[in-house]
Order: sequence, then C-alpha cells, then structure tokens
Amino acid sequence: RAKALGRDRSELFDEEMRAEATRLLDLEADLRRAILSDAFEPWFQPIVDLADGRVVGHEALLRWNHEVQGPLPPGAFIGVGEDSGLIEQVDWLVYRRAFQWMTRHREGYVSINVSPRHFHSDNFAERLLRMLEDVGADPARLRIEITEVALLDDAPRALRMLKTLRARGVYALLDDFGTGFSALSYLHRFPIHALKIDQSFVAGLDDEMHPESLALVRAILALAGTLGIDTIGEGVETAAQAETLRQLGCTMGQGFLFGRPMPAPAAGDRGAA
Ligand code: C2E
Ligand code: MG
Ligand code: MG
Ligand code: MG
Repeated sequence: RAKALGRDRSELFDEEMRAEATRLLDLEADLRRAILSDAFEPWFQPIVDLADGRVVGHEALLRWNHEVQGPLPPGAFIGVGEDSGLIEQVDWLVYRRAFQWMTRHREGYVSINVSPRHFHSDNFAERLLRMLEDVGADPARLRIEITEVALLDDAPRALRMLKTLRARGVYALLDDFGTGFSALSYLHRFPIHALKIDQSFVAGLDDEMHPESLALVRAILALAGTLGIDTIGEGVETAAQAETLRQLGCTMGQGFLFGRPMPAPAAGDRGAA
C-alpha cells in the first residue's frame, strides 16, 4: 500500500510538473505575441515630498494589457520574461512610452525600473540616451531604478555606466533598499541620487509585530544622511507611516496613501495626466 501510495504521489508530481511546464511555455509564447503587438504600457504612480505632499515625480510601472486577463502586473510574468530574455524587449517598449509621456506631462521626474541583467546588457546606457533623444524627452528628468545586485554584479562596469548616465543628467535610485546585500562600503563609491526604502520596512512602521522596522528605517536614513543621499519611503499606505517617515527625516514617499499606479490618458489627450 505504501508502495502504491508512493507511485501515485510521484505520478501526481509528474503531472503537476508537466502542467506547470506547459503553462510557462504558453506564457512565453503569449509574451512573444504581446511584444509583436506592443501590448505593454507604463502606469504611473506619484512620488511626493513628505514635507508638503507636493508631487515631485512618478514611477513608471509596467503593465501587460493581456487580451484575456486584462492588465497584468509584472509579478505575473517577469520570471518568464527574465528567463527567456524577453523582458529586455518589453522594457524598451515601456521605456519609449514612458519617455513619450514625459514630453506631454511636463512636471517632475519619471523613474523607470531596470533589472540587473538588463542594466549590464551591451550598450544599455547608450541605447537609453539615444531613445530619449529620439523621443525628445529631457534626460535630466529621467531616473533609473536599479537594485543593489546591479551594482555588485560587476562594480567597475556599473560605476562606468552610472557615470555615463549621470553626465547626461540621468540619476540613479537604489530600489528595494535593505532587502539585498546592503554592502555599505560600496554605497559611497557609486553616484546614487536616492535610496528607496523597501516597502516591507515601511509596512512594519505601524505594525507592532515588527518593532525592528523602526530601527532599520532609522539606520537607513542615518546612512543616507551621512552620504548625502535622498530617501524615498516605498509602499506608504497609512498616514501614521508617512508621519513617522517624515519625522525620521525621510524626504519623499510613494504608496497607495498618495496615489495608486494609474494608466496615462490616451496620447492626444492633453489633459491633466
Ligand atoms: P518596485 O519597483 O519596487 O515597485 C513598487 C511596487 O509596489 C509596484 O508593484 C507598485 O504597484 C507597488 N506599490 C506601490 N505602492 C504600494 C502600496 O502602498 N502598497 C503596496 N502593497 N504596494 C505598493 P508592481 O507595479 O506590481 O511592480 C512590481 C515590480 O516589478 C517592481 O517593484 C519592479 O521591480 C518591477 N517592474 C515594474 N515595472 C517594470 C519595468 O518596466 N521593467 C522591469 N524590468 N521591471 C519592472
Ligand atoms: Mg521601482
Ligand atoms: Mg521598490
Ligand atoms: Mg520591488
């Protein structure tokens, strides 16, 4: 009986594996088709000055307008996109749209997300600058969001890249700060404009189950202050979180409290978006 059960289990396991493999292959094929039909767009979420609530910029967040499942967030497909290398093509489609939006929406900066692998791909900085020029968007209004992994992967190369971009006015933000290696000794060597404090720490600020969050956020802000780097609290959902961040000296905030990611109105509509 034990043997029978064992066999049943492994058959079930095989079946699940097969189903998952099929799902991933379908998703990859779907993604390829979506690239051909340019089915991706950036949604925009405001980043505010915590002192007065003024909107200082927006983060462009990728959405896939899937024909059946509607707008899909990156979590639904980024794994397949990265494994297949397709995410880089998706990124360029989304960046172009974000740059086009910059030319219509004239206030503040726009930040785009760049995965470590994409950041280290050939001619990334040159391509980015060329696309900005093509579209007629001002590089000085663009920020790129990278993670610590992108810096540590190949530090000399990352440094060159960031310097090339900064020389043209494109500043770098360090995304999800605190969740990676946080190799502090590295940080001061890179031209980083701001740290984005990961939302897991911000969520813990008014959650008594996570008393360590306050200490961690305080430490990150002290570090940023020492290095003269700006700070953005991510995933701010409550007024209490915003107030704590502000009191601790965090300068900017982003989260559902201030505004959710929203699609831009259609091109041609020169409205408020
Ligand atoms: P991220 O860059 O850390 O972006 C922040 C994520 O937090 C976004 O999820 C955003 O919608 C969500 N968020 C914002 N405010 C709140 C809040 O108050 N509460 C909560 N619970 N969540 C909040 P999203 O849009 O699903 O994006 C997930 C991740 O996908 C991003 O994390 C980023 O790493 C990646 N991503 C987004 N756009 C792109 C892109 O164009 N290219 C690439 N390669 N990756 C992207
Ligand atoms: Mg980001
Ligand atoms: Mg983040
Ligand atoms: Mg994240």
